[in-house]
Amino acid sequence: MLDIQERATALLRRFYGYNSFRPLQLDIITTALQRRDCVVLMPTGGGKSICYQIPAMMGDGVVIVVSPLIALMKDQVTALTSNGIPAAAVNSMQTEVENHHIMQQLFTGRIKILYISPERLLMEIDRWSRDLKISLVAIDEAHCISQWGHDFRPDYTRLAKIKELYPHVPIMALTATADRLTREDIARQLRLHDPKIYIGSFDRPNISLRVMIDPGKGKRVNYICSLIDRYRHDSGIVYCISRKRAESMNAELKLRGYKSVVYHAGLSVTERNAAQDKFISGDVQVVCATVAFGMGIDKSNIRWVVHNNMPRNIESYYQEIGRAGRDGVKAEAVMFYSYGDIATLQSFVDESGQQSINTEKLNRMKEYAEASLCRRRILLSYFNETMEHDCGNCDVCLNPPERMDGTTPVLKALSAIVRVNGMVGVTMLIDILRGASRQELIQRGYHQIKTYGAGRDMSFAEWNNYISQMIQLGLIDIAYNEGNHLKLTSYGAKVLTERSQVMLAKYIPFERSSGKRTKSKEVVEPQLTPAERLLELLKEVRLKLARKEQVPPYIVFSDKALLEMVRVEPTDMESFSKVEGVGEKKTVKYWKPFVTAIRKFKGISEPLGTGLSHEETLLLLNAGYDVEAIAEAKNIKPQTVYNHIASLIREDKLSEFSSVITREQYLRVMEVAKSNPEDMYLILAKEMPVGLPAVALAMSDFLLRHKANS
Ligand code: ADP
Ligand code: ZN
Repeated sequence: MLDIQERATALLRRFYGYNSFRPLQLDIITTALQRRDCVVLMPTGGGKSICYQIPAMMGDGVVIVVSPLIALMKDQVTALTSNGIPAAAVNSMQTEVENHHIMQQLFTGRIKILYISPERLLMEIDRWSRDLKISLVAIDEAHCISQWGHDFRPDYTRLAKIKELYPHVPIMALTATADRLTREDIARQLRLHDPKIYIGSFDRPNISLRVMIDPGKGKRVNYICSLIDRYRHDSGIVYCISRKRAESMNAELKLRGYKSVVYHAGLSVTERNAAQDKFISGDVQVVCATVAFGMGIDKSNIRWVVHNNMPRNIESYYQEIGRAGRDGVKAEAVMFYSYGDIATLQSFVDESGQQSINTEKLNRMKEYAEASLCRRRILLSYFNETMEHDCGNCDVCLNPPERMDGTTPVLKALSAIVRVNGMVGVTMLIDILRGASRQELIQRGYHQIKTYGAGRDMSFAEWNNYISQMIQLGLIDIAYNEGNHLKLTSYGAKVLTERSQVMLAKYIPFERSSGKRTKSKEVVEPQLTPAERLLELLKEVRLKLARKEQVPPYIVFSDKALLEMVRVEPTDMESFSKVEGVGEKKTVKYWKPFVTAIRKFKGISEPLGTGLSHEETLLLLNAGYDVEAIAEAKNIKPQTVYNHIASLIREDKLSEFSSVITREQYLRVMEVAKSNPEDMYLILAKEMPVGLPAVALAMSDFLLRHKANS
């Protein structure tokens, strides 16, 4: 038990650069190694992948990962190989030659993790003889197997075959969304044997939550622009209710000079992939999208998600905001909502064929949006998780609404509704109250009613906000089936006749409530703190490396890792290798550019020592790399590595040789060195790697030295 824990933690440190496991990860890994089935429920960003990746490095077989998200496999494989973990993918996006080649490598044990699509797995699995040693089958997005889930895929149901063919291979089913019913269904459909169930916390405390009544399009777009400006090195998503709205938001942002793309199901696959690639690689800052976007996106530096319109249920909402801040660094989720959206959503529900359950879900979403309690508590209670205290990171916690006597505006609005016989919507009602003289209003004779102009003292936005509250309080109802006209509820009628007191949350003008204003282009750049400046520098280094290697920047390092570098300020390889989020392979590959930037920033002028290449070799040797692997990681010849080792031995920095040279090899070198000193290198070159004799000689000196000392 302890043994597993120690080994797993060492691998986590070595390959990912993380110091400790998150809750449940170690238990899940242990279960897999004990060859027991399990179902893992964790939110997006919770750290599911590590649960099946670490077992791949601990067992002697391969881990097969079944995932429907073919488009993202390449990305996952790149992330793994960049950490030094041999992984590959087999799917319909690659040529048959490539796929065939990968399957061969799999059989020769050169791949530890194989990503595969369900249909491909079903094609291959019969052909796989029992020779292929599978240590675990991980089923990602496992809710796809269930008709109860929200993304049923018929192909998934045939995965029951895995258990039939390999009854003794453990299965790990993973998902971010599953209620109890779906969870049980997953276990049944996959024929799992007495699976262990792991349910991670759905809390994502680093994401701040905020809901705002729609202040109108212009201000909404300004707000989004201010977010882009604030996080100009990172990216965000704007979720819209329809393709049309996504298109128009995209056009709007582009018009204002921002790099934006659009993504929805109406685009061709090629267009969608291109948009996704641009977003993942950081070429654009924003994607304006419908719900079609985002499944499986694991870009770690998404800093904000805006819901331009209210989503249809809390599950979708939670999954969508969960795409932000996956690195654990602070992120923002902002939602705008309006009664117009609710009308649209209601019409979706009416067409959905599952009216009662979907209405219920929409109502829960509405309650969340309108809440005056800590929003995170509401969210978590939706997922049956209780939170004992307020979160301190949502708009309600941060700016508790100030209460005021709202009786006067309430009576004005209610009486106006009665006088127009409940025949107007929100906009017309406000126009009447504010005494507007637009044509339609005059034509209908509304300028002659008693409350016309009675609310001139308040702005349109202010009225809009108060009327929303009156709807939330149940004083007014919206007749969605009658052109969204406003009607008095019986409670509203009672308040009107009894003139009873009503409290409202005091309106805060949008500009003030939304924090920073959008800066116009002339405004000077904000003053950065030294830490922020260093972070920007490191992001530039990262971007350059990413461009050179043609990978997305977060594959090089996550934002979180960069923040750690800013905190620790490593000025040599050793301290760099200890930064959280920096694994071995990345130490070797990247320490120089980052350490150089940090040294320059700190004004350290003395250049980096040149002998450091030996130190790198030492670090890798100590971490268990063999000579071949070191040569590959550093992209140098094995001979050079042997030279480093010889020098290290001479400098007394290395005293464990068994992984470098065998006893027989050592004795053979000694023998030839004695009998045939002139030609020894020529003779030995035929028998052992070039460079190894030099190591043997250094070793012999070392042994003499130490014999003399003791
Ligand atoms: P999921 O698959 O559950 O959506 P991931 O496996 O992609 O989540 O993990 C989300 C992020 O958290 C990744 O950037 C991952 O590297 C990071 N992460 C996972 N486990 C740990 C850990 N033990 N310590 C630090 N970071 C972790
Ligand atoms: Zn809160």
